[in-house]
Amino acid sequence: MHISVIGAGLIGLSCAWRLARDGHRVRVFDSSAEPREASWAAAGMLAPHHEADHDSPLWRLCAAGLERWPGFLQELGMSPRDADWRDGGGWIRATDLADLDRLEASLRWLRATGTDVLRLSAGAYARACSVAAPGVGALWLPGAQVDPRLVLPRLRAACLADGVTEHLGAPVTAIADASLSLADGSTHATDAVLLASGAWTPALAALTGTQLPGAPVKGQMIRLPGPCHLRGFIRQDHRYLMSRHDGSIVVGATMVEAGFDRALDPSASRALAAWAGEAVPALAGQTPSEAWTGLRPRLASGLPAIGRVRQGLWVATGHFRNGVLLAPITGELVADLIGGRQTAALSFDPVIAGS
Ligand SMILES: Cc1cc2nc3c(=O)[nH]c(=O)nc-3n(C[C@H](O)[C@H](O)[C@H](O)COP(=O)(O)OP(=O)(O)OC[C@H]3O[C@@H](n4cnc5c(N)ncnc54)[C@H](O)[C@@H]3O)c2cc1C
Repeated sequence: MHISVIGAGLIGLSCAWRLARDGHRVRVFDSSAEPREASWAAAGMLAPHHEADHDSPLWRLCAAGLERWPGFLQELGMSPRDADWRDGGGWIRATDLADLDRLEASLRWLRATGTDVLRLSAGAYARACSVAAPGVGALWLPGAQVDPRLVLPRLRAACLADGVTEHLGAPVTAIADASLSLADGSTHATDAVLLASGAWTPALAALTGTQLPGAPVKGQMIRLPGPCHLRGFIRQDHRYLMSRHDGSIVVGATMVEAGFDRALDPSASRALAAWAGEAVPALAGQTPSEAWTGLRPRLASGLPAIGRVRQGLWVATGHFRNGVLLAPITGELVADLIGGRQTAALSFDPVIAGS
């Protein structure tokens, strides 16, 4: 089958790669000649348990998503160093007793699921994560991290090596039953279309007459020069810090609903830098060496949509804060669904997501 994937972020590329490996003829389309949207902006924290406090299909998908990463990197031929991969988990830091109570509830539930989770006193946290300010205590949870900016080019190269062709630099402007039209005037025949266009997927779905309500959530991040080497990432509510291999520290992230505005907010950078200095005193007073934003794809349901919309039309989007974590498993799910293989346990029906 000839399949057109719209979107060359981590989701589109990981689907394209699996589909090509299944023997389909795959072409990837992207508006940009050098795609650098959410997948490039992301921190790369792979943290299925850090926001979970009850059983849900999304938590199960995220937990399964983490398990796929080591094999995914191996298949890409990337060593841990190539991807800046670390699987030492991460901490959730509590700064007051109310925080600690909330963490206790997560701890009890996660332990009941068999998840390997540790509760650390302030002193034990300070010793385990030697550069961190103690707060009042912390949880340690399994998880991992990668640098998406290192993985993206390797995934793209793997797609090309497996026969995927690219049409970059022109947005898709119309989708008919058996063809796509682009802003550069070209038309491309296709048997099936996969919408994997991140925050822009609701607009593309509308071109097909499909309602998939959703809106982008802007995230701003900064890099502090460090050098500082953390043992695992540190989280506190929506904010987190993680080390890159060069000793720089990536600090994220804001959550702003402002349509497709991607402007940098200097006050947000200052607030992130100040929080980083509070969580890790060695970073206090550092000036960001880089700041950037990205648009997280969030659907109204709050869940991803992965599956068939109708004959010849598929979707993989709405990964919101977990698109890096879920990229390998989404590629597998989409290839299994299009290939008619059983995936019911982990499927996220786009019809439900859009309703
Ligand atoms: C600041 C920030 C931090 C994050 N941190 C993490 C993290 O630590 N861990 C994690 O798991 N997730 C994280 N995420 C979420 C994750 O980045 C996203 O969920 C994921 O990257 C979405 O991938 P995608 O391929 O769907 O979208 P994108 O990477 O945005 O790709 C969509 C592509 O579609 C293209 N496109 C759009 N419209 C058209 C059109 N009309 N025609 C052709 N092409 C089109 C775009 O050009 C773009 O390249 C973060 C996101 C942000 C913004």
